[in-house]
Amino acid sequence: MNADAKREAVYGAPPEMLAVRDDLTPMLSQYADRCEEHDDALVLFQVGDFYEAFCGAAEAVARTCEVTLTQREDSTGTWPMAGIPIDNAAGYLERLLDAGYRVALAEQVEDAEEASGLVDRAVTQLITPGTVVDEELLDGGRATYLGAVARGGDGGSSDSDAEGDTYGLAVVDVSTGECLVTGADRALALEELERLAPAELVVGPDCDLPNLPFDPMETPFEPEAFDVDAARETLSAYAPRPDAVVESAAELRAVGAALAYAEYAQGDSKLEYVTRVTRFDPREFLQLDATAIRSLELFESRSARAGSTLFSVLDEAACALGRRRLEAWLRRPLVDRERIEARLDAVEALCDDALARADLRDQLSSVYDLERLVARVSRERADARDLRSLKTTLDRVPEIRDSLAGTDSDLLADLRDSLDELEDVRDLVGDAVVSDPPQEITEGGVIADGFDAELDDVRGTAEAGREWVSNLEAREQERTGIDSLEVGYNQVHGYYIEVTNPNLDRVPDDYQRRQTLKNSERFYTPELKEREDEILRASDRADALEYDLFCEVRADVATESARIQAVADALADLDVLRTLADVAVANDYARPEFHGNAASSAGPTDEDAGIRIDAGRHPVVERAQDEFVPNPADLPRGSVALVTGPNMSGKSTYMRQVALVCVLAQVGGFVPAKSARLPVLDRVFTRIGASDDIAGGQSTFMREMSELTEILHNATGDSLVLLDEVGRGTSTADGLAIARAATEFLHDEVGATTLFATHYHDLTDAADDREGVFNLHFTAARRDGEVTFLHSVADGPSSSSYGVEVAQLAGVPASVVERARDLVDDNEVDTESTEEDGVAAANSETGEVTEVTEDGTLAAYVDGLENGHGQTGTPNRAAATAATTEPTPELDAVAEALREADLVDTTPLEALNLLSDLKGRLE
Ligand code: ADP
Ligand code: MG
Repeated sequence: MNADAKREAVYGAPPEMLAVRDDLTPMLSQYADRCEEHDDALVLFQVGDFYEAFCGAAEAVARTCEVTLTQREDSTGTWPMAGIPIDNAAGYLERLLDAGYRVALAEQVEDAEEASGLVDRAVTQLITPGTVVDEELLDGGRATYLGAVARGGDGGSSDSDAEGDTYGLAVVDVSTGECLVTGADRALALEELERLAPAELVVGPDCDLPNLPFDPMETPFEPEAFDVDAARETLSAYAPRPDAVVESAAELRAVGAALAYAEYAQGDSKLEYVTRVTRFDPREFLQLDATAIRSLELFESRSARAGSTLFSVLDEAACALGRRRLEAWLRRPLVDRERIEARLDAVEALCDDALARADLRDQLSSVYDLERLVARVSRERADARDLRSLKTTLDRVPEIRDSLAGTDSDLLADLRDSLDELEDVRDLVGDAVVSDPPQEITEGGVIADGFDAELDDVRGTAEAGREWVSNLEAREQERTGIDSLEVGYNQVHGYYIEVTNPNLDRVPDDYQRRQTLKNSERFYTPELKEREDEILRASDRADALEYDLFCEVRADVATESARIQAVADALADLDVLRTLADVAVANDYARPEFHGNAASSAGPTDEDAGIRIDAGRHPVVERAQDEFVPNPADLPRGSVALVTGPNMSGKSTYMRQVALVCVLAQVGGFVPAKSARLPVLDRVFTRIGASDDIAGGQSTFMREMSELTEILHNATGDSLVLLDEVGRGTSTADGLAIARAATEFLHDEVGATTLFATHYHDLTDAADDREGVFNLHFTAARRDGEVTFLHSVADGPSSSSYGVEVAQLAGVPASVVERARDLVDDNEVDTESTEEDGVAAANSETGEVTEVTEDGTLAAYVDGLENGHGQTGTPNRAAATAATTEPTPELDAVAEALREADLVDTTPLEALNLLSDLKGRLE
């Protein structure tokens, strides 16, 4: 049974109930109604303290939540039933979400005691991956987005082609009220979508989306929500002039649909806490596509060193607001030089002021998640403790402003100015809500004395009554002369006067018997009863009044959502800036400098605006090990550096550290280096790792090639390109040819600054005929007869026999190492004789490879040993390869064709086609 079929039996009214529809009990009939109304979700139906599901849905709940499947029996049948306790529903709901279900909560909307007949239930909340608001289901450090994608035009035939190719993209964070909208051509919009990675996606009509590298739940939603007019109508509730917010019909449609779906999920009501719809242009940020984000390990680690990512190194945020903001900044570094410098100024100012930094850290650590608090206030979900948390947070604002007073930075000054102390809100909550309120808001004890005259009055009455009762004991003892007489209270019987059996004869006439115990009798008097009623009435009245007052206060606070959100915004920025400063000081980072702003069309571009890093480090790797060898980078703009060296010598680390320094600088942070002079990059591309993951159903090589295509098409002179072992997924000859062609194309046509780590030693020749192509290498050194890595970058290509050295390190028997060294020496003579053409060299190599002389092959073999990949490390590999490449006429023909191929004038794709053709002929 596939997932959808499974869902079929879970969503909608159970067919077996519909079959006897007219006979169902009123409650099950109501259940069936709610299921029919919300047939896109698993309905959880409140029955008292439980959420229940029936039939197919019950089975799903029992299985997923590991709760017992029971039955409900009535005259119409026996219905499978499973329930989860409302009090700790969060964990169960999370399991249902994780299992891919959408859940609709049908809650009792009348008081069971007040309802005449059946209690009415309504779906108050839809719980889906993109619309969760429950604190326990949310990740504090990440925004949880609901996204909508729409295609240009108004869906009719009148679209011009250009409009039809524009895509609009909107996301809403239902837990905070953040709402973003953007638009771009399809490719850029898809990249942006990957970057925002919404947990749930509503896709508009005619959108043509590929398989996405993340896995959002795709939600079917009424296509009408995407109509331009409907979308404008929806948006107008959030922005007075909807058309001023968006820049295309596609954007309007996307944001309209996203908001409409968010409203629907929250029980069809306007989201008061969405106070600002923000449009941005993807080009305002350094483009990091999902591949780059992954391979640079910004948020997720690919290695076994789990948990170490750039984010985890930087995450010294003091509060959840700051943590989410840091994530957002890292996901979108800037390209506007002024904005970058403003952030750097602020970080520097904080670096220089240890006291302010420490104070801010302390103050911000007692700041609550204001964004989510405000959202709960607006959704009428906030309790008294939430309001106190709001006040606690606002109490810190004046101190935070004070801490900033002495710092010297325009950005910090601006942030300080936007820190509205919100005295009115603070005082309102402070006056209204007691300082340590209970969890429940319906049972009193929430509103402070002196806030409301009527409440004080009612409380006074109750208090006077209690006072009277508490003095009663002494009075009655005196009146009756019974010293052991006691006045008490009990839940069932209320107030009583207790007299022990030996004293019963002294009980006055007005005592009425209430309860008989073994050794005593309990009585009441008419006056006591009257007082008791008075106390009960007054405290019930007080509770009700308190609840009303609390709701009023909460509603008043809700009207200030926008102001509170502005404060939250400033606190978030502030926390990130102080985090960046803390990390810079703790890890000895330096402030980067920028050449002319290369990314803006205005302003002169410094022609030689290369990447110059003095003693750069990898921010994550340096933290994971005892010693890290700093390395310089001097990459002229548009140059291609070919990085060679044995496996594990530090090539990948080096390339990534260069990219990470650039990224971090454009975030506005200091960088792990002694100094850095950098260009402002427009994009960072990566193709890193020849790992054998077969993601997305594409073979590794195919994937590698499509990523390469992407890079070759989209990189510009302002881009940084990292290629790590590109071409490894195929035969040596193919791989080398592609690597060479790509290198030349990047250099000649694209002009992107490129770092290319390769095990194809022959590629290093590419430096001979192009000035902008040069070699760097990492070496191994022999120390005490052992080979160790220096991890230190040097000019020029590496020695071609590094593979053999590594083989020795790996413990390959001495005789094999000796033999291999001989063969390498022979091979070097061969290679030199076919110098003029890289391809010819490659061809002569092909034959040699079979004899395990080509260094890459041996390196790959060792690689296999180290990584535990059985297949690559099979000792038989050389023999097997040799068998398939025995010289034949066909082989000669293929070799001839390869020799004739003019790679300089061939695009990589053409090269790929040619190669696959040749491969076909070989097979
Ligand atoms: P390669 O890509 O050449 O196979 P890596 O860059 O993956 O090598 O580095 C292998 C390991 O070497 C890293 O995991 C790290 O532990 C260590 N390493 C790399 N660069 C350095 C360095 N500059 N200083 C210290 N150790 C390093
Ligand atoms: Mg590597």
